[in-house]
Amino acid sequence: MTPNDSKDMEHPENSEEYKGLAVNSGVKEAPIMNPYLNIKKRPKAKELSVDEYVEGILAGNRTILSRAITLAESNLTEHQEIAQNVIEKCLPHAGKSIRVGITGVPGAGKSTFIDALGTYLCKDSHKLAVLAIDPSSEKTKGSILGDKTRMEELSLEKNAFIRPSPSAGSLGGVARKTRESIVLCEAAGFDTIFVETVGVGQSETAMHSMVDFFLLIQLAGTGDELQGIKRGIMEMADGIAINKCDGNNIEKAQLAQRQFQNALHLFPMPESGQTPSVVTCSAYEKFHIEEVWKMVENYVAFTTKNGYFEYKRNQQSKYWMYETINEHLKNHFYHNTEIEKLLTEMEDKVNRNEITSFVAAWKVLDKYFEKI
Ligand code: GDP
Repeated sequence: MTPNDSKDMEHPENSEEYKGLAVNSGVKEAPIMNPYLNIKKRPKAKELSVDEYVEGILAGNRTILSRAITLAESNLTEHQEIAQNVIEKCLPHAGKSIRVGITGVPGAGKSTFIDALGTYLCKDSHKLAVLAIDPSSEKTKGSILGDKTRMEELSLEKNAFIRPSPSAGSLGGVARKTRESIVLCEAAGFDTIFVETVGVGQSETAMHSMVDFFLLIQLAGTGDELQGIKRGIMEMADGIAINKCDGNNIEKAQLAQRQFQNALHLFPMPESGQTPSVVTCSAYEKFHIEEVWKMVENYVAFTTKNGYFEYKRNQQSKYWMYETINEHLKNHFYHNTEIEKLLTEMEDKVNRNEITSFVAAWKVLDKYFEKI
């Protein structure tokens, strides 16, 4: 077979003996876009002044609220300057909501639960904002809470405002932004704030320091009800909801409820003066959703009466003052070019056993203090 033969086999229409259908040259495909369409660039949203932001937020304007949150989340100095001014002016109008933290391992049903409870509250004329602390993994750049289509029913409620979690950043940074978003949402008139986080690590401590009630969503029927979640997180909980109490899982959920109740009685009495309650619920079947809310309301009433509610909020404000100082000091220290250089040098020396870690640390600190 000559090279020409093979070409003819592939395209027999090119051969002179070919009598079949002829192939015409193709028709030029029409452009996807209408070439006559005159697309005007959408004008950039007008920059707002601090007062315009504050006025808009206090009037409950969602677009302006969203823009203010975006500004507060930005790392640009010029954005931060405006954002901090806006937050400061909103502060006197904030603080009047019930802040509920919701945590649980991935798959516990947090989104489904928030969808159910949130819709229930909105129908009961509450105004609800849902925020999230989700420090995305630096490695995957992925977000655990943000990617799914979530809270479909709630997102249709006009009384609900759902804000996806801030993009990747350090836990401290993301948590601070969430706390600032709480202030802005409260000033915009939201009376209930949910802060969601994944119950797998550090973010609970940050969340605990910004909410009034910490709800742990647990699962039954996994055989390791008490081991599945870290003891520290259990100790922070003001209430536990055993979710997925439906279908074949009802008995297991009730058993888990008793186990949790017994375990909680072994813990020292929380500072609030109230032993956490444990309820079973099904976010899917909307069973006992209002029971969970009653648990929150009872806790708020109890702690308001005994003064713990206000005490905790004051403690939290102090905590965030120190957190902010710590964050700035650390940034100032580690972003100093001379210090960065000296740190690399000291790391090498420590690795080579030429100097102890302690002495190396003091050499760097001395250099820093001498400079400022
Ligand atoms: P998250 O990762 O904690 O936010 O959990 P999701 O809300 O995404 O729920 C994880 C899975 O559990 C989904 O497939 C839900 O449909 C399911 N789920 C959530 N709540 C319930 C429930 O009350 N009962 C049952 N049977 N399934 C549920």
